[in-house]
Amino acid sequence: METNMSNMIPLCAGSSEKHDTVCIFGTGDFGRSLGCKMLQCGYSVVFGSRNPGASSLLPKGAEVLGHKEAAKRASIVILAIHRDHYEFLTELTDVLDGKVLVDVSNNLKINQYPESNAQYLAQLIPRAKVVKAFNTVSAWALQSGTLDASRQVFVCGDDQKSKQMVMDIVRTLGLTPLDQGSLLVAKEVENYPLQLFPMWRLPIYIATCLTVFVFLYCLLTDVIYTYVLEGRDISFRTAISIPNKVFPIVSLTMLGLVYLPGIIASILQLYRGTKYSRFPNWLDQWMLCRKQLGLVALAFAFLHVLYTLVIPIRYYVKWRSNYYVINQIKKNETSVFETKAAWRTDSYIALGMLGFLFYVILGITSLPSVSNVVNWREFRFVQSKLGYLTLLLCTGHTLIFGWDKFLYTSRYRWYLPLPYMLSLVIPCIVLVIKFVLMTPCVDKTITKIRQGWERSPKSAEQSTYKNGSIAV
Ligand code: NAP
Repeated sequence: METNMSNMIPLCAGSSEKHDTVCIFGTGDFGRSLGCKMLQCGYSVVFGSRNPGASSLLPKGAEVLGHKEAAKRASIVILAIHRDHYEFLTELTDVLDGKVLVDVSNNLKINQYPESNAQYLAQLIPRAKVVKAFNTVSAWALQSGTLDASRQVFVCGDDQKSKQMVMDIVRTLGLTPLDQGSLLVAKEVENYPLQLFPMWRLPIYIATCLTVFVFLYCLLTDVIYTYVLEGRDISFRTAISIPNKVFPIVSLTMLGLVYLPGIIASILQLYRGTKYSRFPNWLDQWMLCRKQLGLVALAFAFLHVLYTLVIPIRYYVKWRSNYYVINQIKKNETSVFETKAAWRTDSYIALGMLGFLFYVILGITSLPSVSNVVNWREFRFVQSKLGYLTLLLCTGHTLIFGWDKFLYTSRYRWYLPLPYMLSLVIPCIVLVIKFVLMTPCVDKTITKIRQGWERSPKSAEQSTYKNGSIAV
């Protein structure tokens, strides 16, 4: 969030529409950028600074005074200073009494202090109305106008009127205020910009573990097995052949994992006979990262497509096909055209291509810019109906690829199942249970439960609805 913008001299043409005067303490990067934006939007800005005469980088049209004089000029004071320097504010208690103090500060680490910066500020100036806002917007975004990524401003505070005043400013600046509640939420709001891809952690972790496991499995049953039992070195297969087995297996397993939590949730709701009961935490976390799971799965599917496209130009493939043809010529033989084999290969390729197309559609519709323009029903249609269709097509692609290979015990190296069989476990479980859940009698009960029906008064009593926490 912190951006060095000390070399940028802002040009701030004021808007014709005039708003109240706002005081900003601190003439650093953030104070200057916010002040400039406010001037552009028609606010009068007065800066409170330790050295009012010193700053040459301030936006034109803004006044710079000492802290006390500046605070007297406005009912809202935005503190664009670091928490470590808040202590000097205690000397201004009289002048800050009853004013709206906006805390924009961030920390360097998650949960750096026992209390949030905003709560600390409220303790320092107990009679001021503290509101937390703007900490998720960067100084750079405010000045450069590239606000798309940080258009949302989380606002929280105990005084409703003060919060409204700050939210009005946020709206006037062209940003979107999101009321998060009381000042108790400030810690969460302060931790938010410090988080590093929280929703991606579980999917990346699953993908890494799966990739390593499947890679080692294929290495064992392919390269190591051949070397140990036949004495042949086929280690070159680790570059393309084995990864091209690993990617589809990981991709299909992860796609299955996208739909498995929904299935578990349905079973739980059926079992409990109510939707007003919380899911276990692990299931909640799993459901929340389904989009990221799906996108990682799509990335693996892309890799599978790329690796498959290069097959014809591989040295080994060209050598093997030449060898086969030359051998036939030498023996004066012609291999018979097998319609069944042609059907099988064409079918699995066709299913794979269709599956990939729907996979891509799913990925595209999960992007915020696309999902924002479809309504809830359309979104559910794509993510649920097309999602299951994708899972079905990709599972069909794998089943036809495997065909009857599973019948031949000679193919089971060291009694281990064939690698492609691993990828079918979760998708097949998901599809079979989904099929059962779709049968009219089960589906009717689930629909009723999701509309608020409860099986017995006992489940209603147990429901956490009364405690104010409702499960989706
Ligand atoms: P900065 O460039 O270091 O500016 C901080 C300002 O605080 C200084 O320019 C100074 O202004 C004032 N200050 C410094 N020491 C002080 C002291 N001992 N007593 C009183 N005032 C003092 O920092 P910044 O990047 O503008 O960040 C300011 C606040 O905004 C921080 O809490 C930061 O977490 C938050 N924030 C920043 C960004 C960002 O992108 N930069 C984004 C979101 C939130 P004077 O010299 O005028 O007194």
